[in-house]
Amino acid sequence: MQPVERIVIVKPPVFNAGLKAIRTLWLRGRKLYCPICEKGCRAFLPTGTDRRLNAVCPGCGAFERHRLLRIAIQKLAHKGLLKTGGRLLHVAPEASIANKLATAADYAPCISIDLNSPEASVSADLTCLPFPDNSFDTVVCNHVLEHIPDDRTAMAELYRVMKPGSWGSIQVPMSDKETFEDATITDPAERERVFGQWDHVRLYGKDYPDRLSGAGFRVRLFEKEALVDPGDLPSLSIDCEQEVVFVWK
Ligand SMILES: [Zn+2]
Repeated sequence: MQPVERIVIVKPPVFNAGLKAIRTLWLRGRKLYCPICEKGCRAFLPTGTDRRLNAVCPGCGAFERHRLLRIAIQKLAHKGLLKTGGRLLHVAPEASIANKLATAADYAPCISIDLNSPEASVSADLTCLPFPDNSFDTVVCNHVLEHIPDDRTAMAELYRVMKPGSWGSIQVPMSDKETFEDATITDPAERERVFGQWDHVRLYGKDYPDRLSGAGFRVRLFEKEALVDPGDLPSLSIDCEQEVVFVWK
């Protein structure tokens, strides 16, 4: 496959501007804080089948995991554990953080990939990336691998396109057990029951870092308490998040 260098800055997220303005006005306040859009509000919006409260920022659409990731990058960059800037590869870009990452952390340009999403700048398969070896300074690939049957090939591809010394955020939903996968489970309802979502093909467990290490990565897990000052935890509303996984090549 020929390398693709079709570079397009990720477009701003598509929101219903009127609805967003009404929500933002209705929820204005200072009780909670979103580090993605850097604004306060009195409540985040509920989401999920369980109507999880205080989950989604009304201003930018960021979920709990996005807010924690933003804080984590700031904290670890400040400690010198990771370097921002250079070339960023964002896999399956999450609209709420794609632009923020690209601009606030000096990434220019941000290249994003997805098989189908119009939000991505390049249409590509994560198990066969159309980029040369050692292309990127940072990779963000969050909540993607649990959808991919051949996740080990996807991890190997991410490792291949990262430059030596580069870092990545490769988050997945994790249980406190061993990783469970069964390719014979294809019924959406059964997948939802055993993997947690209708289109997931596995539920990763505590051995997830070992799988990343198998692709060559150096892996570190950070508890949220190590990244966020205790006094700031309530205002970020990230109760459902535990750890952040970072990798280095
Ligand atoms: Zn926000």
